[in-house]
Amino acid sequence: MTETHAEVGIIGGSGLYELAELENAETVEVETPFGSPSDALVVGRLSGRSVAFVPRHGRGHRLTPTEIPVRANIWALKALGVRQVISISAVGSLREEYRPGSLVVPDQIVDWTKSGRPKSFFEDGIVVHTSVADPYCGRLREELMAAAHSATDTTIHDSGTYICIEGPQFSTRAESELYRFLKMDIIGMTAVPEAKLAREAELCYSALALVTDYDCWRSDEQAVEADLVTAVMARNADAAKRTIVRLVEKLPADAACECQDALAHAIITDRAAVPPSVRERLDLLIGRHLNA
Ligand SMILES: [Zn+2]
Repeated sequence: MTETHAEVGIIGGSGLYELAELENAETVEVETPFGSPSDALVVGRLSGRSVAFVPRHGRGHRLTPTEIPVRANIWALKALGVRQVISISAVGSLREEYRPGSLVVPDQIVDWTKSGRPKSFFEDGIVVHTSVADPYCGRLREELMAAAHSATDTTIHDSGTYICIEGPQFSTRAESELYRFLKMDIIGMTAVPEAKLAREAELCYSALALVTDYDCWRSDEQAVEADLVTAVMARNADAAKRTIVRLVEKLPADAACECQDALAHAIITDRAAVPPSVRERLDLLIGRHLNA
């Protein structure tokens, strides 16, 4: 395991594969009980803080949303000492007012994934029911919105429900209409299980969603094409980077928050019944709770 330390984690999505703003950047390979992260992490300084960057799909965009080793990514950040994570991702819009090019700080998630992506660190002898009623950290959302408002003149939506589909294909028109009927606001493929696992790891986690297109529900809109999405994404990535720089500059060093005690009452299994091998394997996440 590495001795490198980081305070803030950034998970970059489509269009944001690196963060050139990191100074003295070093590449860090982290191995976890859940395998290797999507790629080597890059740890560097930003506004005097130590920041770790994970390219969610790997460099060169090699991993489909279904293939992303999310448990390893979250574990790697936790292992580096990260306590606050910002997730950047491209999304489609299901609402007229969430225009392409705007930014959204979502406040809710609906899980519409189908493949049985691993959604918990806890299994094989330990049962943990974590609350994800509010899947994003409220405190970090406020910090993120303030940073976005001050760093860009782009439209920022202060709330929104993110429906996470399996992909890798975009929606059919009928599906897109269904999600609108269900009152979903934005659509993407990666919020689940990332947000849930971040909560299980007791990290403060919030997301900046970059609207690239109107999905395919608007009848006058051409169907979503990867090329078109990539072009808007490049413009959005710039606004996202400026927001990240401002956020890291302003983030309080003491980030005491309820997220960081999310497992306090969530472990259901009798402590004495947790197998020693599980206890050892998951020590990073639950050691302090089991030994309390
Ligand atoms: Zn929090």
